[in-house]
Amino acid sequence: MVHTTPLPLQSIHMEDGLIRRMQQLVRDQVLPYQWRALHDEVEGVAKSHCVENFRIAAGDSTGEYYGMIFQDSDLYKWLEATAYCLAVSPDPELEAHADEACELIRRAQGSDGYLNTYYTVQEPQGRFTTLQQGHELYCAGHFFEAAAAYYTATGKRSILDTACRFADYLTRVFGDNEGQNHGYPGHQVVEVGLLRLYAVTGNAAYRDLAKHFIDIRGREPSYFAWEREQPGYKDIFHEDVLLEPTYAQTHARPVDQQVAVGHSVRALYMYAAMADLAALTEDPALTEACERLYRSLTQRRMYVTGAVGSTAVGESITTDYDLPNDSAYGESCASVALMMFARRMTILTGEGEYYDSVERAFFNQVLGGIALSGKAFYYVGALEIDPERCAANPGLRHVKPDRQKWFDVACCPTNIARTIMSIGGYAFGLSDGTLMVHIPMSCDIDHENVALSIRTGYPYGEKLAVTARRDGQRIALRWTDFAPILRLTVNGRETPLKREHGYVRLPTLMAGDVAEATYDLTPRMVSVHPSVACDVGKATVMRGPVVYCAEQADNGPGVGRLAMDSEARFTESLAFCGHEVVALRTQGYRAQWPNEAELYAFRPPVWQAAEVGLIPYALRNNRGTGEMRVFLNVLSCTDVHAK
Ligand SMILES: [Zn+2]
Repeated sequence: MVHTTPLPLQSIHMEDGLIRRMQQLVRDQVLPYQWRALHDEVEGVAKSHCVENFRIAAGDSTGEYYGMIFQDSDLYKWLEATAYCLAVSPDPELEAHADEACELIRRAQGSDGYLNTYYTVQEPQGRFTTLQQGHELYCAGHFFEAAAAYYTATGKRSILDTACRFADYLTRVFGDNEGQNHGYPGHQVVEVGLLRLYAVTGNAAYRDLAKHFIDIRGREPSYFAWEREQPGYKDIFHEDVLLEPTYAQTHARPVDQQVAVGHSVRALYMYAAMADLAALTEDPALTEACERLYRSLTQRRMYVTGAVGSTAVGESITTDYDLPNDSAYGESCASVALMMFARRMTILTGEGEYYDSVERAFFNQVLGGIALSGKAFYYVGALEIDPERCAANPGLRHVKPDRQKWFDVACCPTNIARTIMSIGGYAFGLSDGTLMVHIPMSCDIDHENVALSIRTGYPYGEKLAVTARRDGQRIALRWTDFAPILRLTVNGRETPLKREHGYVRLPTLMAGDVAEATYDLTPRMVSVHPSVACDVGKATVMRGPVVYCAEQADNGPGVGRLAMDSEARFTESLAFCGHEVVALRTQGYRAQWPNEAELYAFRPPVWQAAEVGLIPYALRNNRGTGEMRVFLNVLSCTDVHAK
């Protein structure tokens, strides 16, 4: 087993292309906007009160805590995203805001190391009494990630020290010994955070506590059932689904869990931590569990876009092949968490195939979670939108046709920001001295003996060029089924393609050598397993990892009436946002109904020739409110003429 290790962000300098543009959007628009939202300075949006809660906890302000019990985590994820910005280029204004946030967080911390503004301000006696719902450990996990990221980016120790004081406190409070709390988090992510803190500090107690939380989860008798029996216990949320053991993945020990189920974000953050631990401990049973859960999810329970979560009830993964398009939940955070899990699976196994899920989730759900303005976000990523039905049908109330400026539960916007800013860390790894290109993107890389430049329009452009800037560059490009490499040359000479562990290795390059790869990005229809009944007779279109959708803006109203021809060929043009983003058109059909006054008739609709326009799903809803569908009907021309 050859582990791969990620490259530090500081060694990757993005050059012109989609990723740099998205990162500039986050730096210039998204993070300043989110900073203002966290300070309640954006008019007409859901009140956050996040920073004010910290001020009250720090004694700078007076008043009551306001907001969801996990509001602290919004500031932490903003800080983490900002850390990734600062890792690659200085920005004095952003850094001043971040330093201010670090100082405020430090002062909101208790003298014993405890840190959570809700319990500090509202319920000092209630610490860790409702682990199932209280989210203290969830906030802690995001804090540890942010602190580790900020320290790594800036070298400033203060926030890391704050995090370590809190983590030290947790190591005293939680454990198997008498007098310790025997619980574990209701919403997982503290495990990932503790392991990140362990990676930065080397303090084994943090690793051991993360392992402890995974080891004791799902033990009988249930800690959460015991907790509910304690005097003074009170529910924070009042949903029956919370009581189901699968909801928070306490139905079995994680190592014994068979299928991906329950609250999507909780599940995927936990699987990510399990993969981290499996890599650290080389525990074959844990590795097997990670493999099993990954296959359960990606082979039967994940949307084509990398969305996860089939129902709004409990924001959950449900069962095999239950993938409704219109009522899909597909929380942006779940796709972020899927990226975290899948990335760790490649680190754990050295196999490239897991990055298919990273690319699916990133290029479709995560990038699509943010408007081109940088000031509106999707929480729910449905695959089919009809604004009238969303407004009228309570079962679709969670599906907002338009991206929102902010949310009462605002976990997603900052999660999207931190993921876009850290994508370089996802894209490249080192394995035994070879640079592993997991996701192609234009950049210059300088790290130890690695010195090279990559230029590519991927995922929209077919070409990739690598120029070595030092002798002895060893490089492997990931090979995917949705974007296979057609041709590889070094200094113009054809090189044989040999696929190993999901990668193609290039011959060792000397300074000045140029290797060029051509990807097959032919648009292709993608069908779904027929057990996903709602998609039988339908298909979507993918071009590389990019999933396409049909919007009302290109097709007029009645997008559900459209069909593609099964032999369809696609013509490509630049999408409305310009740059190199590709839009597609194809010949298809539109259902005509002989008498619009009738709901039912003794004959099928008449299919008339019509052009179908498609844009990347990630770009949807940038031209006003309208209908959208990822899956369209597919007809053969014989079907049409027979009717
Ligand atoms: Zn979220």
